[in-house]
Amino acid sequence: MSIKLKISIQKNTKKNYFIYIDEEFNDNWIKLIQNKKYSKHFLLTDQNIYKLYKDFIVDLEHKLNINPKIIVLKTGEKNKHLKNTYEVYEALIKQGIDRKSVILSLGGGVVGDFAGFIASTILRGVSLIQIPTTLLAMVDSSIGGKVAVNLNIGKNMVGTFYQPDIVFCNINFLKTLPEKEWICGLAEIFKHSLLDKKTYLSLKKVILEESHYKEWNTKTWQKIIYESIKVKANIVSKDEKESHLRAVLNLGHTVAHAIESLTNYQKFSHGEAVSRGLVTALILSKKKLNFSESLFKEIINLMMLLKLPLNTAGFSEKNIWKHIQYDKKNQYDKIRYIYLKDIGKPVYNFELSREEFELGWKEQKQLFG
Ligand code: ADP
Ligand code: ZN
Repeated sequence: MSIKLKISIQKNTKKNYFIYIDEEFNDNWIKLIQNKKYSKHFLLTDQNIYKLYKDFIVDLEHKLNINPKIIVLKTGEKNKHLKNTYEVYEALIKQGIDRKSVILSLGGGVVGDFAGFIASTILRGVSLIQIPTTLLAMVDSSIGGKVAVNLNIGKNMVGTFYQPDIVFCNINFLKTLPEKEWICGLAEIFKHSLLDKKTYLSLKKVILEESHYKEWNTKTWQKIIYESIKVKANIVSKDEKESHLRAVLNLGHTVAHAIESLTNYQKFSHGEAVSRGLVTALILSKKKLNFSESLFKEIINLMMLLKLPLNTAGFSEKNIWKHIQYDKKNQYDKIRYIYLKDIGKPVYNFELSREEFELGWKEQKQLFG
């Protein structure tokens, strides 16, 4: 069964597009691409995906009856760098890309961000289709139109907001997902559920009633991914460019970014950092906004069942605080922190003070090590 979801960006871009969640890349999807009547199709992917899904790529070429000029990027976040764009721009232009062309992005967040950035800038913008292959990219990075590349001094420092024409999520890709990647996606899925009560209750039911997530069947994954995307899509539809509401998607990310930058993005995956950051956000919300203690315990239990890490990873409050202050989302020297009053009730106009953070981090250390 195919699931379809509409994103409707209401301001600025005013663009509507569909996200399809399916078990395979089926003929209906091919038709949807053909219906767009692009002049040329280009495919960007990374070395891993190219190797693993060679047959799929060949099939895509064949079924679309085109010859996508495949560009294979080196795998890994460090290659999502501005310096690597030059070569790709030139290759695409040499191969005759024009303004009616489309770039298909096949990969995780790294490929999606890079391909999206290229699509949004080459010839002042060509069409983009996202085909995410990781759980994280399906529920998060391929949705919402943020695309960017890295500079030496920081991640995602150069980028744009650029909405795709279509997003195709093919659950089948998850079968080969590396171990670490599951936590990445699950942490963001959990974050989304904390921003919407109905989604939370539905996820809770699945976690409590079904076996380990590795054994969830395709139907369950379709449902979980659909509901998670819906939370993000709703928020992005109302505030594409993060002028206010979209900031709630940064729940747990203040601490997550600090953990990542403290470890030079090497030791922990994004999800492992986000998961810990979510716990901090819940503890601070208990203290500041009386977030319910029993609900806190329930959430922690669910996170444990998903094997999401909860501890402070051995970092002192001083170290984390220092890095919180470098975070690019800090505006006007204030720490814009997302709290929760309740599930589905984020609060984003309070400032985070050093004392408050340190007390919260100490409590997290006491509780989870
Ligand atoms: P994300 O940013 O979405 O977490 P990345 O683009 O950094 O993902 O990809 C993480 C790693 O997983 C990369 O090495 C990538 O090549 C690989 N990868 C992506 N999708 C799959 C998949 N479906 N199966 C196996 N490996 C994958
Ligand atoms: Zn994130």
